[in-house]
This record gives sequence, structure tokens and C-alpha cells, in this order.
Amino acid sequence: MSLIAITEVKKRFGDNEVLKGISIDVAPGEVVAIIGKSGSGKSTLLRCINGLETIDEGSIVVAGAQFLPDEVHLKALRLKVGMIFQQFNLFPHLTAGGNVMLSQMVVKKTPKKDAEAVARKMLDRVGLAHKFDALPDELSGGQQQRVAIARALAMQPIALLCDEITSALDPELVAEVLAVVKELAAEGMTLVMVTHEMRFARDVCSRVVFMHQGRVHEIGAPEEVFANPRTPELRQFLGVQ
Ligand code: ADP
Ligand code: MG
Repeated sequence: MSLIAITEVKKRFGDNEVLKGISIDVAPGEVVAIIGKSGSGKSTLLRCINGLETIDEGSIVVAGAQFLPDEVHLKALRLKVGMIFQQFNLFPHLTAGGNVMLSQMVVKKTPKKDAEAVARKMLDRVGLAHKFDALPDELSGGQQQRVAIARALAMQPIALLCDEITSALDPELVAEVLAVVKELAAEGMTLVMVTHEMRFARDVCSRVVFMHQGRVHEIGAPEEVFANPRTPELRQFLGVQ
């Protein structure tokens, strides 16, 4: 059974059809990489999966539940599926711990003491237990992104969506964030990640989706997709002949 079943999803912004009938099934524990040129609809797809955008046609079923495009359903969907962005969006006046505690307390109404215990556990999981009291500007970009990952994990999502989470980082900080993602994958977390890190996609992901102009242009195991791109569009994207 799939954990996330995306079927014939279409999404328009005005006259611009951005997703033109996307179907992808993600199995529990699977790590799926989404690659493709800027503007191909990758971010929009992730935003649809966790209910930040409504879809116009098709269906998205998460853990067996279909979410209708009303606020109650979309809010429930956002609670189930975590998302991490290129920009870390930490509150600058809150400590790392405070940032990880906040949404638990506000959205889930978790008591402060319990939220703190979860925050300590999740910061430990991303290797930052010792930074509980640090403010974001006392942390490197890589550490801030790891706090953002801890914050998402604190909501106990059944899957995590990552949208180019290393793209804003200096090259030397990319590895520490990818190492955390790799560990989550090894622990069985279901991940869908838009990424430009082709080596990471090849080494860690179970499947690669190449999006082109709002469609799934190629999909397959990384060794197939990277070693034997079938379409000129993917060959061009990968820079191979
Ligand atoms: P990618 O992440 O692959 O670069 P996006 O999903 O961000 O692609 O964008 C795909 C297309 O959708 C682009 O043409 C973009 O301009 C358009 N788009 C994305 N979000 C919106 C929005 N909120 N309103 C209007 N157009 C949008
Ligand atoms: Mg994008």
C-alpha cells in the first residue's frame, strides 16, 4: 500500500497549468527525489502534497485518507505531512529549543513541559542537543536548517517533504544537513525531496522523478534514471549526451 498516492493531479494558477496530471505513489519508508528544471512544478507539487495549495483535479491520498480542499482537511493534512524549505524560517528571537517547541504548543496544544522534552529529543536527533539555548544567529546555516528539521520532526509527521533544503547553504555546510536526512531515511522515514544534489539522489533515494513542464517525464530507480536517461529533456538536464 502506498503512504502517499498522487493520482492525476492538476493545478492551475489562472491560465497557467502548472501540474498537468501528476501520478506518483510513494511507499512507506521510501525516499523519492524530485529533479527538474526551475519552473517545472516541483515546489507546487510538494505544496499540494501537504495542503499548502489546493488541487484542481485528481486526488492525493495520505495514509489512506483523502483530503478535500477545505480548510479543515488541509489543516489536518499539514499536521500529518511535514515540510522543510530552502529558507529555514526560524523565529530569530526564539532559541533553537523555543523554535522546536513553538508549533507543538500552538498547533498541537502540547503542554510546555512535554513540548520541551520532545524538543530536546529532536534536537538530539539532528545532533544539536547542546544548542538548545542558542539563538538562530548564533548558529551556522547548516545548524539552522537542522533545527528546522527538528521542528518538523517534533510534529511527528508520517512523511517529510524537503524543498531544496540545501540550496541556500554554503557548500561546506551541505553535507551535515544531508547526513541528517540520510539518517532519517535509514530510520525508515518516508521522504519526498526536491534536490539538486544528484549524488545524494543516486546514493540515498529509492526512486527518482524527473519533472518537465508539469509532467512526470521519467521515473525510475536512480541507477536507471541517471545511467540510462531515455528522453532528450532528461539527458539535457543531466548534461549528458
Ligand atoms: P519549481 O519548483 O520546479 O521551480 P514551481 O512549482 O515553483 O516550480 O513553479 C511552477 C510554475 O508555477 C512557475 O511557472 C511559477 O511561476 C508558477 N507558480 C508557482 N506558484 C505560483 C503562485 N502562487 N501563483 C502563480 N503562479 C505560480
Ligand atoms: Mg521550487
